[in-house]
Parts: sequence; C-alpha cells; structure tokens
Amino acid sequence: MNTAAPPAATGKKPHAVCLPFPAQGHITPMLKLAKILHGRGFDVTFVNTEYNHRRLVRSRGAAAVAGVPGSFRFAAIPDGLPASDADATQDPASISHATKHHCPPHFRRLLAAAAAPVACVVADGLMSFAVDAAAEIGVPCALFWTASACGYMGYRNFRPLIDRGIIPLKEEEQLTNGFMDMEVDWAPGMSKHMRLKDFPSFLRTTDPDDVLMTFQLGEVERAESASAVIVNSFDELERAALDGMRAIIPAVYTIGPLGPGEAPARSVVYVNFGSVTVMSGEELAEFAWGLAGSGHDFLWVVRPDVVRGDTASASALPPEFAEATRGRGLLASWCDQEAVLRHGAVGVFLTHSGWNSTVESLCAGVPMLCWPFFAEQQTNCRYACAEDEWGVAMEVGDDVRRDAVAARIREAMGGGEGTKGREMRKRAEEWKEAAARATAVSLGNLDSLIGDVLLSGK
Ligand code: UDP
Repeated sequence: MNTAAPPAATGKKPHAVCLPFPAQGHITPMLKLAKILHGRGFDVTFVNTEYNHRRLVRSRGAAAVAGVPGSFRFAAIPDGLPASDADATQDPASISHATKHHCPPHFRRLLAAAAAPVACVVADGLMSFAVDAAAEIGVPCALFWTASACGYMGYRNFRPLIDRGIIPLKEEEQLTNGFMDMEVDWAPGMSKHMRLKDFPSFLRTTDPDDVLMTFQLGEVERAESASAVIVNSFDELERAALDGMRAIIPAVYTIGPLGPGEAPARSVVYVNFGSVTVMSGEELAEFAWGLAGSGHDFLWVVRPDVVRGDTASASALPPEFAEATRGRGLLASWCDQEAVLRHGAVGVFLTHSGWNSTVESLCAGVPMLCWPFFAEQQTNCRYACAEDEWGVAMEVGDDVRRDAVAARIREAMGGGEGTKGREMRKRAEEWKEAAARATAVSLGNLDSLIGDVLLSGK
C-alpha cells in the first residue's frame, strides 16, 4: 500500500542518491532509472567514480555535467585505482576489488555531507556496501540489479555448486576435458537445460578465493538485506528466474526493459561486443572474414582496445579486408546502440550477450548471434538460444571460425534452406511486443517502489 506522500505533495522534493557500479553496462541502466526518478519528482545525485566522472566531463563538458544544482547533479568519489587519463577500459577484477574496499568510506562521507537531506539510496547490486551506508543515515536502500534475472540466479547457484564440491574446479584441465558440459538440471530458479559452462564464467577457477567469484557471490547474497531489489527485466521474459529471486528476496521490483523500441527492411548485420569484451587478433580476423564471407552489409563497432594488448585494434584487421568488403561494410569505434538496433535496416545483431545488449535487441525485435565473453553472458546466451526459453538466437561457438560465422549470419538473415532465421525473427518480434507491454507494468512497479520503499522513511 502507498502510505508515503507522492513526491510532488511533500512541498520539498525528495532527494535520491544513485550509485552505479563503475562500468558502462551498469551506468547506462542506472542513468535511465535516475532520469525516470527525476521525471517523477525526485532531486537526483548521480555518483560516478572520479575516473568515469572525468570521462563524462571530457565528452560532455564541465557545464553540462555540473547540471542544475539540487535538481539532477553528478558527483564523484575515488575508486582507489591508479590515476589514469587514458580512455582505456578498467578491468572488472580491479574495479570489483577497488569498489568494495575503497569506495565505502567515501560514499558514507558523501551521504553525510549531502547539501539536501537524502530520502533514499538506489545503488547497483554490485555496490551492496550502500545498504549499510543508507542504514546509518536511516534511509531505505534499493539495490538495482542491472543484469538478467537468470544471471542473478546463476550467481546465486554458485553456493550450492560449492556445497556439492563442483566449484572451485579441482584442476585447470576441467576447463577443457568435458567437465564443463556437466548437466546441472537441479539449480533453483534456472532452466533445466543448464550445463556447468552456461553459468556465469567466474566459476571457471581453481582458486577458492578468486576475486570475481567471491565478489559476485558475496554481492548477490547480500541482496536480501536491501529494502528492495530492482531488476531490469520483466516477468514474461524471465518468469522462473524472477520467481527464484522472489523466493529469497522479500521485495523484488521488475522495471525493465528501460527504454523504447520500434522498427521495419532487415538487411544489415550489426556487430558490437560491448564495452569490456576483448579478443585475440586471430579471433578478430575470423570475425572479419566471416563477415566478408557472409555477403551481407554490416556495421561493425571495433572498440580501439578490443584486441588484447592493442590500442588501435581496427588496424589489426587484415589489410585485404577493407578491399573485400568495400561498399558494404562500415567500421566505427562506438555508436548509439539503441538507435542502431531500432533502425529497421538491422537484420541480426552479433553480440557478446551482455544483458543490456540482449534486452535492447529484444526490445527492437532483432534476433542475435551470440559470442559470450564472460560473467553471466554465457547464461544469457543459453537462454537466448534455447527454443523453449527465448528462441531468438544462435551461438557462434567459443572457437570462432570464419566459415561458421558466415554460415550463421546467412542462416540468421533468413537465407538457405532452413527456417531457423525466420523462426528467430518471429520470436524476436514477439519479444518486442512483450517488452513494450512490460514497460507499462514496470513503470507501475516503479511507482509502487517509490511509495512503498523509497519514500517509506525506513
Ligand atoms: N553501448 C553503446 N555503444 C557501443 C557499445 C555499447 O551504446 O558502441 C551500450 C549498449 O547499448 C549497452 C551498454 O553500452 O547499453 C553495454 O552493456 P552490456 O550489458 O550489453 O555489455 P557490457 O559493455 O557491460 O559488456
């Protein structure tokens, strides 16, 4: 029940402090949520790390970032990593370690020194230290899980996998000797089709103290201590995983998908592996010749640091590639992905299966070819491909080969004898409609969250 006064009726605007995890796939959805809260009458302080704050200032200018004081403003806390002005990607293990050990006191100080009294904290699910920080000043804290619900349950199931002695792995060889193909059909909240290799990749370690494995497990297990958990997903897409979350977390609010969608002429392959994925020069070349061999037009976003150890990755492309694809290929280093996916020209999305990319693709009705890199991307990939789950995708395969890439693209674009491409397109269109329906429901859930939790004062 809504017992708190709606924001506009209090006379003074409630102040929400939003704290994303400092990586693009987390900042994007948190910014969307923060803008919605702002639109619903909140003053917002959006807290980046200094590293990301500097990047924002460089791209937008100091005046734009300063915002309207007291209305929507950006603030920054240190992340404790060595200062660098290079526009390089920070690696996940270092960020995880740094945020957990370095950010908490800075965040506490920021809350204590806030110009306007804080009404609530909305923090990323990987910044769970914010729960205690909010409790200290006596305000509610909602944790925003920006990835998939199936990914969340994938991490939660690390615990029973540990208890059964399956992880950490006994020896490195288990990564290659077929052990990872083990069926795991008993994991609560998960598809019956899971294999060990479909779980978030951070379990692929022999080290019981592995930073990413222990960090992720610790963070997901702390979720139930929050006032609420917000999930960037919706029930029709992930009912079982969301039910799994609700069985362990008292208050779960689905508010996804955040962002619109529409589309029509499907002739271009869009390729983007997100903000973190890295690959070898050989893998880059296999993708390049696969695209060339597919015969289709393409837009390929090659991040400057996508090739391991190379800061000018596009120059690692074979020189003959440009000649072979002249007139039908466009390379870029970054793009407005949601706008690209919504463009009717895009026929298939070759993706690393990041959750934002996956949802953005579903919202736009675009089928996918998946090449998961790490974390819960393997799990997203499995669900996207399984016909009795989302049925909108096919896998490229870990060992990327040009012929397979070309064949998969042709199949997904509806060529050849098979009906697979058409079926995926149809399912993607259905998910697009379901996503549009879910947005209305999710905005209602968000209003309940505001009334029941964020403005509850406890
Ligand atoms: N993105 C973008 N342009 C790019 C690459 C990525 O706008 O060229 C956005 C993309 O739309 C998504 C986010 O960055 O919202 C990436 O998040 P995701 O969870 O897909 O992957 P991650 O980058 O965390 O691996």
